[in-house]
Amino acid sequence: MLTLRLKLTLYYLAILSAILLFCGIAIYTTLSRTLVMTIDQSLDVQARRFERAVKNSTSETGFDIEPDASETPSEPGLNLPPELLQVIDHKGIIKDETHVHTHDELAVDMPALMRLPMQQTIYETVHTLASEEFRLATRRGRGYDQKDFYVRVGQPLAPLQRARSRLLLILGIAIPLALLLGSYGGLVLANQALRPVDQLTRAAEHISASDLNERVPVPDQNDELGRLAAQFNAMIARLQAAFERQRQFTSDASHEMRTPLAVMRGEIELALRRERTTPDYQRTLTSNLEEIIRLSRLVEDLLMLARADAGKVELQREPLELRQLCADMTDYISPLAEQRNQTLRYVAPPADVTINADSHRIKQLLLNLLDNAIKYTGEGGEITISLKAENDTAILTITDTGRGIPSEDLPHVFERFFRRSAKTADRTATGSGSGLGLSIVKWIVDAHDGQIEARSQLGEGTTFAVRLPLPSKRPEVTN
Ligand code: ADP
Repeated sequence: MLTLRLKLTLYYLAILSAILLFCGIAIYTTLSRTLVMTIDQSLDVQARRFERAVKNSTSETGFDIEPDASETPSEPGLNLPPELLQVIDHKGIIKDETHVHTHDELAVDMPALMRLPMQQTIYETVHTLASEEFRLATRRGRGYDQKDFYVRVGQPLAPLQRARSRLLLILGIAIPLALLLGSYGGLVLANQALRPVDQLTRAAEHISASDLNERVPVPDQNDELGRLAAQFNAMIARLQAAFERQRQFTSDASHEMRTPLAVMRGEIELALRRERTTPDYQRTLTSNLEEIIRLSRLVEDLLMLARADAGKVELQREPLELRQLCADMTDYISPLAEQRNQTLRYVAPPADVTINADSHRIKQLLLNLLDNAIKYTGEGGEITISLKAENDTAILTITDTGRGIPSEDLPHVFERFFRRSAKTADRTATGSGSGLGLSIVKWIVDAHDGQIEARSQLGEGTTFAVRLPLPSKRPEVTN
């Protein structure tokens, strides 16, 4: 398996090789072209000079191929003396030539010569039989006797080849050397860049689920690794908080279960200590049944929250009409209110309010809120349920004239196992709940993409307002 370090170095090397190769090719071709162009310029100057010389000599009987010594070349170029010079007459006969090398193979191709345009230098590269490369420049001229003639000058390309080979040699040494140095540099850079990652890894290895107090060092908040380390620490902090919540939850849950179990045990042990009358046994059994009911409600609530945490509670969403549902729930809970001489009112909306929701969960939500309202409102109090649709939201409020919630408790009422602090609590009411009802309500509201808000005035009453989104109306189809 390739390490990141090696991968980075290889990528770097690949890019560097591509750049060096591209530069090498560019240098090589540019230099070759420039050299050929320089030779061509020189050949052009020579060809013109010889053309003029030959032309001047045409009035005489023969060709005089020596250029005028007094003539100084005015054209640009190197003006090297040509190594090859041929003067060919209109019949294709070589009238004169100077060449130090063998040049038999540079035969006269008359049809090709006759196709040449006037007053233009035509270049070509030819290979002699001795594998010698020549650059040739040919010009077609016309003498004073009105007969065409051809001047051909040439330079061997051997010096150019030598320059090319030298350049190839230099590039052939320089490029691998640069790559070698580059790969070393790349490795050093990769090492340098990844050192903080190693440090992070080592620090992360020390952090275990049982000890989430450790944090990794943050090298520099502003660079990528610094941000990674900071994010990593933030994640550990979130994990720590989640673990802490979990631990608290387990300990609260076992504590909640221990109390009814202890009560039941005590009562049963007391009853068994001696022979009792039937009413005594009935009393004990009734009391135990109450505790069992409480316990099973607690277990159900715990199970529901645990499954919700694990994402295992699936909502069975369907169109749900709230106006009738609230009326039904009011009827259902009213005996409980009547027992406490409380007035239960339902302010219904003028029309149906239909949301897309899980009816079982919404009933659970209403029951929990109404149960609390009745539980925390004294004899003769008033509880009002009201429902209305506003824009794209259904707003459900449950208001009571009960004991209220102290402002310092208000932000915590939706927390699990939260119950009013002992000093302000009404003992009878506090003992009856597990502190999970509102957590479940909150979960149901969140699962339906809604919001819940609690407002309260100590000693005057409490209002819980639940906002649930109404399904978006489909645009009407017009024909
Ligand atoms: P519990 O089972 O204790 O009722 P909840 O989660 O339903 O648990 O409520 C948490 C706490 O919020 C309660 O213990 C109580 O102190 C407070 N509370 C909830 N509803 C009301 C209300 N309508 N009036 C006053 N206090 C309330």
